[in-house]
Amino acid sequence: MNFSQVIAIDGPSGSGKSTIARLVAQKVSAIYVDTGAMFRALGYFCHQELGSLSATDQVINILDRVKIEYPGGDQRLILINGEDLTQTIRQHHVSALASEISLIPAVREFLLTFQHTLVDDHLCVMEGRDIGTVGFPHSLCKIFLTASAEVRAQRRYNQLEAKGELKGVNLKQVLQDMEERDHRDSHRVEAPLRRAEDAKLIDSENMSIEQVSDMVVEYYRQRVKETSR
Ligand code: C5P
Repeated sequence: MNFSQVIAIDGPSGSGKSTIARLVAQKVSAIYVDTGAMFRALGYFCHQELGSLSATDQVINILDRVKIEYPGGDQRLILINGEDLTQTIRQHHVSALASEISLIPAVREFLLTFQHTLVDDHLCVMEGRDIGTVGFPHSLCKIFLTASAEVRAQRRYNQLEAKGELKGVNLKQVLQDMEERDHRDSHRVEAPLRRAEDAKLIDSENMSIEQVSDMVVEYYRQRVKETSR
């Protein structure tokens, strides 16, 4: 396993991580890994089983009988115990379940072990909250993506609308839920959302998707040159 073969893209919700990470993966012929999908799937699954995520010991017990699968590829499939949760986890309310379950250290450890199994000698673009800091601190290239809360909320809102997942949620609610989630993600004890010291900061606010992805690819190539000297 060569963990340095990872392009780590971290940042708050709506910063454009998924779109950029997917595009970069295409441009550099890398495998794309969405770690948020794993927290979403596990949060959803455990909530279905227990009716709530508040009993940490019960959540931890469930981990023993969870088989998570992330086959990769364009469809971004995610399965738990054989059940395809790819679409289900994109519902608005699942974001909060993901954030809640992500506070549990045993869950983070479980998913980190799983993430490590996905990385082999092939180049991999992995996006999340703690990839450059905790998951893969020796990543070859680290990016921290940001944009203002308003712009991020608008992007999330547009995504939900495009998928027909708004279900009565308005922009104000999306912004409020997102700010709450970002606060929780940034202030948790275990692997909080923060920029790694050696991560390149990119503010995507006034940039097109193409511009941001080109900037990431260019930075990745620069890092390859620097590290092969
Ligand atoms: O990226 P996405 O919005 O799908 O992530 C959902 C939630 O999963 C985040 O708000 C965060 O709480 C959690 N997460 C995490 N660490 C990661 C990826 C996601 O804690 N590496």
